[in-house]
Amino acid sequence: MSSKGLNQFLSTNIEDLKNKGLYNVINPLQGPNGATIQIAGRSLLNLSSNNYLGLATDSRLIEASVKAVQTFGAGAGAVRTINGTMELHIELEEKLAAFKHTEAVIVYQSGFNCNMAAISAVMDKKDAILSDELNHASIIDGCRLSGAKTIRFNHSDMDDLREKAKAAKESGLYNKIMVITDGVFSMDGDIAKLPEIVEIAEEYDLITYVDDAHGSGVLGKGAGTVKHFGLSDRIDFQIGTLSKAIGVVGGYVAGSNQLIEWLKLRSRPFLFSTALPPASIAACIASVDILMKDEELIQQLWANGDFLKSELSRLGFNVGHSETPITPCIIGDEVTTQQFSQRLYEEGVYAKAIVFPTVPKGTGRIRNMPTAAHTREMLEQVVSIYEKVGKEMSLI
Ligand code: PMP
Repeated sequence: MSSKGLNQFLSTNIEDLKNKGLYNVINPLQGPNGATIQIAGRSLLNLSSNNYLGLATDSRLIEASVKAVQTFGAGAGAVRTINGTMELHIELEEKLAAFKHTEAVIVYQSGFNCNMAAISAVMDKKDAILSDELNHASIIDGCRLSGAKTIRFNHSDMDDLREKAKAAKESGLYNKIMVITDGVFSMDGDIAKLPEIVEIAEEYDLITYVDDAHGSGVLGKGAGTVKHFGLSDRIDFQIGTLSKAIGVVGGYVAGSNQLIEWLKLRSRPFLFSTALPPASIAACIASVDILMKDEELIQQLWANGDFLKSELSRLGFNVGHSETPITPCIIGDEVTTQQFSQRLYEEGVYAKAIVFPTVPKGTGRIRNMPTAAHTREMLEQVVSIYEKVGKEMSLI
């Protein structure tokens, strides 16, 4: 029998989410998360994955996974520091370091985990963190976990950052100060102003931390936002995920030898949570190999993003100010946004509505994630469904 207090908490809060239109329904996929997906017996054009380069379903990754399962088994069997580190983990870390143009890399079980691990391994309650107000939830949680004072700055507002950095430094209250930002902001597709952030950081002696979950495999010939701006030797922490463009699962920190050495000694998910399984690591290695050899998928991703953006904008939709293939379609009102997404679904397009509190009130949007795996015909079909539903709902 469970506690009355718990039952009441759950019923009240679940009901509240339903009343506010924030109750999320999960539609399980009946096959892979590719350019099209199968849900409840229907095939839909998929614009909701982070599988930017289509590598999640690539035969080279699948073959590498199968081979690794047969050679190394299904699980790693232990945490990295006991005996869960296989030669595959080391190979991936060395490859990622070369790919990111840094001295070393440490791999974690997820991108989320990475932020929980890395921030609290170096920051504590005597420190302060300057954090962009639109940073990802895992950064926010990582900052909280560290116990450091979090000081939010207005989104990509360099005057605000400079002012807050100066005040934090001059207060003399903190041992260390970090500035932390997403490389690419996934709700709008805009890119962090890293050259200015680095200048401010150098002026006020800030530790620099860039979570490039959405920039890796997309910008800087795949190496990410930091490389895109030519700042590889001026950023302390580069976070990447292995779950988006790389197409598998996991996360990593790229940085100096000494930083990675410290994280291997002191970051808790590395010490206390079992290592990623061999199949996933082998698939990641195959994926990085592909990215290091060939820019074709990245070019295809950008061409698809440019096409979708220009077509939706031609139809009269507001696609915001994205600088990357992420293509938001800003509808505004939350209920209309949900209805629009539902109508797209009925017409054969899977594109999720994103509403408050994930984005500010009144800026509800459909977030379209075109990938390299979409064909031009698929995207043309998407555009014609957008046109039909947009006209039907008097949005264009
Ligand atoms: N950081 C950012 C900026 C992200 O967008 C995400 C994924 N939504 C993560 C971290 C977490 O990555 P993962 O899915 O690999 O845990």
